[in-house]
Amino acid sequence: MKFCSQCGRPVTLTVPVNDDRPRHVCPSCGAIHYQNPKLVVGCIPVWEGRILMCRRDIEPRRGYWTLPAGFLENGETAAAGARRETLEETGATVVDLTPYLMVDIVHIHQIYLMFCSRLLAANFHPTHESSEVRLFKEEEIPWNEIAFKVVEKTLRCYFKDRVSGRFAFRSDKIETRGSIGN
Ligand code: ZN
Repeated sequence: MKFCSQCGRPVTLTVPVNDDRPRHVCPSCGAIHYQNPKLVVGCIPVWEGRILMCRRDIEPRRGYWTLPAGFLENGETAAAGARRETLEETGATVVDLTPYLMVDIVHIHQIYLMFCSRLLAANFHPTHESSEVRLFKEEEIPWNEIAFKVVEKTLRCYFKDRVSGRFAFRSDKIETRGSIGN
């Protein structure tokens, strides 16, 4: 951050009184601009045992496969955000959303919250964010073309749990950048 969003003057990076870390502070109007992690919400959309995935048509990781997910907006619940992102990226409507996996990705200031979900119908299509949208059986998952580590982690958890049929909520973390995206 370079300029104050309140008054437009340049900000400085300094530790405010009674705080313990540097913040962007505006010397002109006194505003303190806190920056906090963002919540990314997404779905594992399932239809007759297959998983709906989308091939990204936007950067980063254009051309790679992902599960539908994106930043939660103000004014919506986490589940509503996951449902909206799925609709935006795949054209599909999901129901029965159940929180499944929370992943801390500290180095990029994000927390992922992924939901198990069911497609309402086998209706989906490419979108402005996805060049291709299709269902994958477990043995068809393109593991070498997954966009983000968190997506691979989510899918591996899901297929592991599917053996027992028990999908208990869990948390995990990704601590360093890998060879693929975050
Ligand atoms: Zn200001």
